[in-house]
Amino acid sequence: MGTLIVRNGTVFDGRSTTGPSDIVIVDGLISDVRANAASSYRDARVIDADGAFVMPGFIDAHTHLALAPVPERKGDHPSAFFTAVRQARIKLASGVTTVRDVGGINHIDIELKKAIRRGDVFGPRMLTAGRFLAPTGGHVHYFSEEVDGADNVRRAAREQLKAGADLIKIMVSGGASNLSEPPERLYMREDEIAAAVYEAHAAGRKVAAHVHPARGIALCARQGVNTIEHGAWIDDEAIDAMLAAGTSLIPTHAVYHYMANASDPRYAELAPVAHAITIEKSERLRHAIDRGIRIGVGTDCGRHFPYDAYVDELQQLCRVGMSEEDVLRAATAVNAEILGIGDKVGTLEPGKAGDAIVIDGNPLDDISHAGKVRTVIQGGVVLEPATLLAHGVVH
Ligand SMILES: [Zn+2]
Repeated sequence: MGTLIVRNGTVFDGRSTTGPSDIVIVDGLISDVRANAASSYRDARVIDADGAFVMPGFIDAHTHLALAPVPERKGDHPSAFFTAVRQARIKLASGVTTVRDVGGINHIDIELKKAIRRGDVFGPRMLTAGRFLAPTGGHVHYFSEEVDGADNVRRAAREQLKAGADLIKIMVSGGASNLSEPPERLYMREDEIAAAVYEAHAAGRKVAAHVHPARGIALCARQGVNTIEHGAWIDDEAIDAMLAAGTSLIPTHAVYHYMANASDPRYAELAPVAHAITIEKSERLRHAIDRGIRIGVGTDCGRHFPYDAYVDELQQLCRVGMSEEDVLRAATAVNAEILGIGDKVGTLEPGKAGDAIVIDGNPLDDISHAGKVRTVIQGGVVLEPATLLAHGVVH
């Protein structure tokens, strides 16, 4: 593959910012990060980042690449796979080089991950959950493996792991996707949560729990769930349980603002539910941040949030009180640690994957600049967002 040098950009390495530096990527891995490193290398491809901002590729800890609405409107139609391929490309174009996909249909997510690894299609590195595990009638049960009782949860978790899942996703409470399963209602019982955690951890995998009510958040933390997804009604008791267990929170805050303000008529009934969550959750999230809960960045892109709006979540996290630098850390090094892949991605340092983005403007001054990704580098391969987004070339 040869040598690639990103020259003289202002570098945020995933933890802190340094002055203008060169990033050297050899055969897909970072080998050197320092000022004037370029002068030691001949015959390298050089990207001039003078005046630009360079940082690790973003990580999205909560995606559903296989849940975009498909033209045929049925998730099991073969076109669903190609729609997922397209979303993967859009994700990459916005600077996201790694995703944790927390649930899809028909294992399209798992097959997409394999296709990206083989080099069949462009897309972010993926961790995948396979199918959701939801109690009968629970959150998005129509997309899920419906499970009731610990043995049932065990079987379904083992099926996902057998198919190639990297994590198990459980639907502990209702959500904001439809009125029939309210977000405050707790659906999963303690023994069912414990069964999912046991099976995932026995396989060296993590568990992500969709859960809103405080009681459910505390229950999940005490049972060893690794990440709380959304967590609208997080309170001090839940925070205590999470801090004791080392549980992280992926707030996916922007999606509720998006649903609350959407003009699409399908949100007519859901918008008030989402609006109530944004108001309640903003204050609770601010308090959780103050108390030191580890926060990751996830968008919940899928049916309710666009695939190209990663920057919206960064902006929402700044609005609830995180500094720009903390938000960029959460989007890179912290997310990688939460996902258990901190040895491979999330920082710009020798030995890590050559995943970096070049940004016009400095997101530490204004976080909205994080949306101005000029160049995406994945494993040392240079990708231009405009080319990734190009379509309709065959008529
Ligand atoms: Zn989700």
